[in-house]
Amino acid sequence: MKLPIVAIIGRPNVGKSTFANRLAGDQTAIVYDEPGITRDRTYRPAFWCDREFLIVDTGGLVFNDDTEFLPLIRQQALTALSEACAAIFVVDGQSGLTIADQEIAEWLRQQPKPVLLAVNKCESPDQGIIQAAEFWELGLGEPYPISAIHGSGTGDLLDQLINHIPHVTEVEEDTEIKVAIIGRPNVGKSSLLNAFVGEERAIVSPISGTTRDAIDTVVYRDGQNYRLIDTAGIRKKKHIEYGAEFFSINRAFKAIRRCDVALLVIDALDGVTDQDQKLAGRIVEEGRACIIVVNKWDAVEKDSYTIYDYEKDVQSRLNFTEWADVVFVSAETGQRVEKILELVSTAAASHKRRVSTSVINEVLEDAVSWHSPPTSRSGRQGRIYYGTQVSTQPPTIALFVNDAKRFNDNYRRYIERQFREQLGFKGTPIKLLWRSKKVREMELSSPNRATRV
Ligand code: GDP
Ligand code: GDP
Repeated sequence: MKLPIVAIIGRPNVGKSTFANRLAGDQTAIVYDEPGITRDRTYRPAFWCDREFLIVDTGGLVFNDDTEFLPLIRQQALTALSEACAAIFVVDGQSGLTIADQEIAEWLRQQPKPVLLAVNKCESPDQGIIQAAEFWELGLGEPYPISAIHGSGTGDLLDQLINHIPHVTEVEEDTEIKVAIIGRPNVGKSSLLNAFVGEERAIVSPISGTTRDAIDTVVYRDGQNYRLIDTAGIRKKKHIEYGAEFFSINRAFKAIRRCDVALLVIDALDGVTDQDQKLAGRIVEEGRACIIVVNKWDAVEKDSYTIYDYEKDVQSRLNFTEWADVVFVSAETGQRVEKILELVSTAAASHKRRVSTSVINEVLEDAVSWHSPPTSRSGRQGRIYYGTQVSTQPPTIALFVNDAKRFNDNYRRYIERQFREQLGFKGTPIKLLWRSKKVREMELSSPNRATRV
């Protein structure tokens, strides 16, 4: 999923990074590996009310001479702005209007993107308005006095900003589902790929930069394209020799990173091995949806094992992934191979799913009334103010609480179970972010109209 981007622009030292840090909170920077997004830049997720976006801070350059850095800033800002839906132009209310501000503003006025003007370092409420007023002159509309350090004024600015941010569902979605086929050597990955595609491989499309590690194949079923990322198989068929035991875990990790849904292929005859556990662990860490494919089911003596026993065994050995479907197939006979793509489609939908804040809070309210949050030794009870889904792929829900330390693992697992029981999420991991908030601090990061639990 591609989120809308908001660029933060301005000359050095006006407080762009401070402001960006405040918007993103403790969310870590992510580097997107998607075409169309500049690779050498980091994007941080942020949200306000029900809108999510990525902020890109164009700062980082410091020069002594005010004019020397202008062409560079302009170049950086141009790149950032070309992929952004809106920009926040930050100026310094304490140092007042400078020539550099005027030059940047002049350029910004010519851009076909909405620009909001943030006058930073306006801590003082009375002074702030006066300091900000000076910037009307830039011709960019209302200057908003803010303090990136204290957080004041940012709410009004963000209320304006979100008028220019599309809902994520309105953003064009990539409809192709990327599926990585991973597993140890000889579990049947390439046989499985051949079973999906038929003997004649329909489309083999090498993607630049990835050809050495994996070759993609696109298959089409019921109106849906699946891009199969095969990590070893095709080259083997081309008789490029590797030792029989050659197994690059890094190649598997790369494929996991690039996919929406991972097919973890396990050899029914060997059962779950340590290497399978390691791969499963990585799938969870990367937040990918997953289907566990037990292959070579044709070769298993059915007297000694039933599917039911086997499934229990697999799930207990892969205890990271209780939420993942297990499917028993034979790549050789084709048995149940088509079922895999049906499960992939369901898992991909869960992975992208977005649940409204009101539904999340209904589930929380219910969960809390069945089972109250733990109380600390000093008698202070954990309290959940509200929750909201902050991103998808995987679904990530932020829970704002009085003190995250009061919520032990048991209670956290209980809440996660409630979300799964009430809302589904079959086939995908979900992430819960427990955030301590003093009530006063909630001004910045709370969705204004969220219901309280
Ligand atoms: P950038 O170069 O635009 O990214 O600016 P920084 O975020 O690095 O901030 C530059 C300087 O301004 C730092 O010393 C900050 O502490 C200071 N600063 C940032 N925001 C504020 C603010 O809201 N009020 C005041 N008084 N100083 C601020
Ligand atoms: P990869 O290394 O994971 O790509 O595995 P391959 O697809 O090359 O398969 C390894 C071996 O397992 C080959 O000898 C296949 O014929 C065999 N194999 C693959 N799938 C099945 C299956 O469903 N049943 C049986 N009995 N053998 C299979």
